Amino acid sequence: MQPKAPDADTDTDSPTHVDLLVVGLGPGGAAAALAARQLGLNTLAVEARGPEPTRAQLILIRPGARAALQRLGFADISEGRRTTTIRQVEQRLRAALADTPAAAAAPFHYHWHTSVVALQVLADQVLATLKDETTGALREVSARHLVDATGGRLESLGRPARVRVGKSHWVITAEFAEPPWFDGIVGVRDPSTHELCLLFPTWGRRGVIAYLDALPGPTGDGPLLASRFDALGQRLGLGQPLYTPWAVDVYQRALVRPSNDRVVAIGDAVGTVDVLSGNGASTAIEDAVDAVFGLAESQGAATLAAERALTQAVSDRVFERHRRGVRRGRMILAVRPILERAWPSVAFGSVTRDKVGPPPLLWPAVRFVFGRRPQTS
Ligand SMILES: Cc1cc2nc3c(=O)[nH]c(=O)nc-3n(C[C@H](O)[C@H](O)[C@H](O)COP(=O)(O)OP(=O)(O)OC[C@H]3O[C@@H](n4cnc5c(N)ncnc54)[C@H](O)[C@@H]3O)c2cc1C
Repeated sequence: MQPKAPDADTDTDSPTHVDLLVVGLGPGGAAAALAARQLGLNTLAVEARGPEPTRAQLILIRPGARAALQRLGFADISEGRRTTTIRQVEQRLRAALADTPAAAAAPFHYHWHTSVVALQVLADQVLATLKDETTGALREVSARHLVDATGGRLESLGRPARVRVGKSHWVITAEFAEPPWFDGIVGVRDPSTHELCLLFPTWGRRGVIAYLDALPGPTGDGPLLASRFDALGQRLGLGQPLYTPWAVDVYQRALVRPSNDRVVAIGDAVGTVDVLSGNGASTAIEDAVDAVFGLAESQGAATLAAERALTQAVSDRVFERHRRGVRRGRMILAVRPILERAWPSVAFGSVTRDKVGPPPLLWPAVRFVFGRRPQTS
């Protein structure tokens, strides 16, 4: 059964001082907030948008993220499969936020439709201005540490910017409500444009996630890819997408150096890795749990100097995890031409459902990467 997303904030009060302020409740921020609650940190978590998960992407839960989630009490978030969707993970994590026990070890607050709009980082605390996106009201909060789980949006408030470390790579994902007509994962490539279209059954085979991947290069054309995606969807009879598909340039980007203050960036805020490596959400979750356990330890330190050293160690570890991710992303892009050839080859202008299929030669490898074939019954 699908867990219900929490539809209300914990309360209408807002604390003015907390141990930890978590900004952003995507996969990384939600995991960070849950870890902080588990460790008894006095926590406030805020998310600019509402509680409904919005993303459709398919994700691979890597072993490190699986272990991190188990630490938070999720025995098996993908219920026996290697893959799930970001929407499903967000939904499970966000639903867990609502399950705060009445006798929690420390105050735990979370607020939807609340953004951080200004930030001041001092030697011993962080001062943040929060904006209620519904009413426009502003309020101040101070925190011993801030976890930046905004996917990089705090750069506009003066946080260090991530730099481009990869080629342009335009992709589109969309979810459709029509049940899949196929078994497992199927795809097709256009031999002239080198675009690759993959179709995945969604959770419980209720619908289809379509993914269109353009050839990485120095530039790209998002609107053109979007129109090709639209035409492809019509040829394959995918129906109306559940939300408007948008083309995204998922070029890799990364911080140049680890954070060196009380704001610890995690997940996409540290860097994005290529989507073909299926790593982004898993890395964000791993970062989150690792960072919050580390920050809790630092807050128990006897001196300010010791606390700072432990905080720095947290940021260094997260940074190193992303460096490895960027290297893995580059490797995946280097072998994309080989991966692409594994799929049936048909000009998209003449593609039909019967021409879309599994990769005839690399099926064992795909099963290894993406998990076992979903059952048809
Ligand atoms: C097209 C596409 C396909 C992808 N496919 C995959 C895949 O197959 N597998 C995979 O693992 N990953 C994939 N990813 C990457 C994955 O989506 C991200 O790596 C993951 O969502 C990062 O999680 P996060 O928690 O760091 O940040 P996000 O998911 O970006 O969450 C950040 C949250 O912070 C909130 N926020 C932003 N600014 C503020 C503010 N000032 N105040 C309060 N809240 C704020 C936002 O509203 C958002 O909810 C894909 C990404 C894209 C774009």
